[in-house]
Amino acid sequence: MTTGPALLLVEDDHGLAALLGRVLSGEGYAVTHAPDGQLGLHLALTRSFDVLVVDRGLPAVEGLDLIAKLRRQSVATPVLVLSARGSTEDRVEGLDAGAEDYLTKPFEVPELLARLRALVRRHRDDAEFLALPGGLLDPQQRIVRRADGDTVELSEREAALLAVLASRPSQVFSRRDLLARVFDEAESDNVVDTYVHYCRRKLGRGVISTVRGLGYRLGSS
Ligand code: CA
Repeated sequence: MTTGPALLLVEDDHGLAALLGRVLSGEGYAVTHAPDGQLGLHLALTRSFDVLVVDRGLPAVEGLDLIAKLRRQSVATPVLVLSARGSTEDRVEGLDAGAEDYLTKPFEVPELLARLRALVRRHRDDAEFLALPGGLLDPQQRIVRRADGDTVELSEREAALLAVLASRPSQVFSRRDLLARVFDEAESDNVVDTYVHYCRRKLGRGVISTVRGLGYRLGSS
């Protein structure tokens, strides 16, 4: 199953969050909603998203603090800030905190959608090649160019699994998370183990490590 871009919406206005959730899901995004900055920060640090939409005025952790904390942890996911504060100074503050884009409330939904498409596209172009132990993964072509010059072809699911692991190289992904991101939640956890095995057979044992009791991570240590 191919899912659309994974989007984290951090917004404490429940009416707006519900509206945006419906619109964005309708556009094919896999939307996760966090109603405060603390949960938003936790999710952004522990799960992988293609794009974040972050309200500026949030309970618990303020929007720009959330972004600054993510950037300090080397999370490079593109962020669009939503804010009622739209002066030049406010926008500059948002961009300085590490946001890629800044949209002032109230906004037109088509403009939000267009800006999100641009962010996701740019992020994907940047991420055309992903580093693996001993090679570079091209997720679109589904090949690994190995350091020794050889090319290894991957199936769609092998490439998708490695792309998720390589998108956050230090993060341990649970089987359940990988099942949701790469496979189909209706399938058994065993399918994850099976594809880890396939990847190791093609690329060597060290390409994915097992973290006992937790899941899998890129690399051998
Ligand atoms: Ca708010």
